[in-house]
Amino acid sequence: MARRLTSGALVVASHNAGKVGEIGALIAPLGLEVLGAANLGLAEPEETGNDFIANAELKARAAAREANLVALADDSGLEVAALSGAPGIRSARWAGKARDFTSAMGRVHQEMTASNNPDTRARFVCALALCWPDGHLETVQGEVAGRITWPPRGERGFGYDPMFTARGESLTFAEMEPAAKHAISHRADAFAKLVARCLGPA
Ligand code: IMP
Repeated sequence: MARRLTSGALVVASHNAGKVGEIGALIAPLGLEVLGAANLGLAEPEETGNDFIANAELKARAAAREANLVALADDSGLEVAALSGAPGIRSARWAGKARDFTSAMGRVHQEMTASNNPDTRARFVCALALCWPDGHLETVQGEVAGRITWPPRGERGFGYDPMFTARGESLTFAEMEPAAKHAISHRADAFAKLVARCLGPA
């Protein structure tokens, strides 16, 4: 049976201030206090898992153990059908140390062309893991289906947003109003599932 966190503090197991802020905004209405991993001086574990859930889980477990608090971690990325799901859990790594997503998007396009597979379907995936200090774990996965658009379009968002168009939309994620993207994103889907399952007042 799922365990529910209804009150108290929660550490977001990420050193990315943007991510902590974005997750904090989603959690604030639930009446929980949100702390960032960097503020607590927590270590950043290596992402050695084979899928999004495994990576979210190892980050949440490490933070819960170290901070002795309930910890929430996420792992996300882009899966391209013609590339058998790549870049997937390597989405951030494809952009290199310089976080160059123009080059990462170029690689997706190049590998799709080389695959000779006309399938342009893709999806963004977001896994969330909530871990208690006693090791109890709850996980969910959200996604948004769509297709790869080339050339990339739009200036908003981040990462692979300019080359992704969600199913039923004509604008890429980077062309959409941020609120419109956030309403249908993989992260929104995962959060809705987490809230339904185990986070905030029942
Ligand atoms: P993470 O921080 O390890 O979860 O890495 C996620 C990576 O996936 C990011 O660096 C982006 O490249 C990509 N990604 C995840 N979510 C999005 C999104 O909403 N838009 C564009 N790219 C995303």
